[in-house]
Amino acid sequence: MAKGNISVDSENLFPIIKKWLYSDKDIFLRELVSNACDAITKLKTIALSGEVETDNEYKITVTVDKANKKLIITDNGIGMTADEIDKYINQIAFSGATEFLEKYKDENDDGAQIIGHFGLGFYSAFMVSDSVEIDSLSYHPDAKAAKWVCDGSMEFDMTDGERTTRGTQITLNIAEDSTEFLEEFKIREILRKYCSFLPVEIYLENTDKPEPKEGEEPQAPKPINNTYPLWMKKPSECTDEEYKEFYTSVFMDFNEPLFWIHLNVDYPFNLKGILYFPKINHEFSGVEGQIKLFNNQVFVADNVKEVIPEFLMLLKGVIDCPELPLNVSRSFLQNDGYVQKIASHITRKVADKLTSLYKNDRDNYVKYWEDINIFVKYGCVRDEKFYDKVKDAIIYKNLDGDYKTLAELTDGKEKPEIYYVSDEKQQSQYINMFREQGLDAVILPTMMDTHFISFIEMKDNNIRFKRIDSALSDISDSVEETDDAKTLVDLFKTELNDETLKIEVQKLKNDAVPAVILLSEESRRMQEMYRSYGQQFAGMANMFTDEFTLVVNANNELVTKLPTLPEDTKKLVINHIYDLAKISHSPLEGEQMSKFIARSNELLKKLV
Ligand code: ADP
Repeated sequence: MAKGNISVDSENLFPIIKKWLYSDKDIFLRELVSNACDAITKLKTIALSGEVETDNEYKITVTVDKANKKLIITDNGIGMTADEIDKYINQIAFSGATEFLEKYKDENDDGAQIIGHFGLGFYSAFMVSDSVEIDSLSYHPDAKAAKWVCDGSMEFDMTDGERTTRGTQITLNIAEDSTEFLEEFKIREILRKYCSFLPVEIYLENTDKPEPKEGEEPQAPKPINNTYPLWMKKPSECTDEEYKEFYTSVFMDFNEPLFWIHLNVDYPFNLKGILYFPKINHEFSGVEGQIKLFNNQVFVADNVKEVIPEFLMLLKGVIDCPELPLNVSRSFLQNDGYVQKIASHITRKVADKLTSLYKNDRDNYVKYWEDINIFVKYGCVRDEKFYDKVKDAIIYKNLDGDYKTLAELTDGKEKPEIYYVSDEKQQSQYINMFREQGLDAVILPTMMDTHFISFIEMKDNNIRFKRIDSALSDISDSVEETDDAKTLVDLFKTELNDETLKIEVQKLKNDAVPAVILLSEESRRMQEMYRSYGQQFAGMANMFTDEFTLVVNANNELVTKLPTLPEDTKKLVINHIYDLAKISHSPLEGEQMSKFIARSNELLKKLV
């Protein structure tokens, strides 16, 4: 029997493993099952070279043995000799995979895929175990079985083993504080999360399961995973139905996705995946997506924002990057040129898909727009390269519900002003006035739109977006500074007695409306911007108070007759005109509303 010390390098290792205890214990199973999977992939590679004959029934079994407090992971892969255990497990500074790769790199392209991917791998077993045993028989015809036992200290025992079939069995003697890993449902949950798409069949067994009753057919065991997930297939081999089914099963979203992009790159890097554009149910469902990152079909994490461009997080999808150095720190990933290449490739593919839909399938594109516009706009604001690629496919809905491009809206004008509506109900009074004059506006209702139009204005200094309630130049004629006009302004000023309120007289083309409220585009946008930054900017937002202007309509009969009315009626009418203008802008609140109702009743009384 050999006793030994685990090599010096490991001295630094156990504290790290212990530290994991406080993060995500579950991953030990991912590490062991993916080791088993690698062992089988290696054997397959060797089999291809004809060096060994195998039966091809590759499988991994995870056995829960609650009675004996064991969790056992068995594979029929390449196996290890005592020397190899010593080398790969004891001297963990060696990366077994690297050496393997050296030896077999010319046999098969798949070799590149088995570079050790998660770093600490095997030793994570000690996060949940008092002791760990390895029983292994190498594929070599003259190999002897080997057994290794270690209790998590720096010492291990190595003896001859008893295993008679090729492969490796890892036995975890589960520690008292980790008994949850003796529950079948828990193990199933972890396997589902991390191993659902591993390329080797994985079976979950439970030694506690009652034997099938007499006369009952034993159920054929089914693997827990899908060894050939859709993203690994060639896009030409996949049907729409398969894409939809895959979407539903992976994201548990029973709404059909709008469309998708199948990424399949071999050069200059390896990248596969499917990105789905989800249907946004309603405003409250939020627009948070879910991008699952895989490394060689092993699940790594959701929404790894260092790898995937942030705006793509609004989508749902799977991305498999077999070459990503996932064991390195996140700050490394952020600055890694390779990662950036992946990100810009994905961005380009998404832009291509959008522009090709716009060009070739306009009807559907327009239908999708309500669901995808936030994503597209967010992408433009976050990534100018993305904007440059998709800018001709950005469309705006007008008052008639037709979609126009920016070029169509600006129509060759030198300094185009585009009016927009942010709330169709609230701004209906203004919309009506616009329509009466045959004018158009576009509908931009979301917070994202506010950022987006500022972005467009920045890209093209001549374009200005103005909310429909911010200016009247197109629906009114300004009024000379006559005495009549001045009298009106003074009347309202004295009666309303509000220093912050600007009062102007104009001749609106619509003579039915006595007055309207205008809200300065600049101050409103500044407020909205600071508010969107969150709580700590609330103070800044308040610095920009709303700049309201009450525009009194000199074309309105009530207004022109106002100076001739009896004093008490005049007071009522002025206040009422002001309230009506406010109502068509935003609802009256509390006391204002009560006053409005009381005054309405008083005015009605004057009719009888
Ligand atoms: P990594 O997988 O990143 O190389 P591990 O610590 O998980 O690191 O494993 C170290 C090495 O031990 C592996 O590279 C492999 O050579 C060997 N090994 C681990 N598990 C098995 C197994 N089930 N079958 C064969 N070899 C294994």
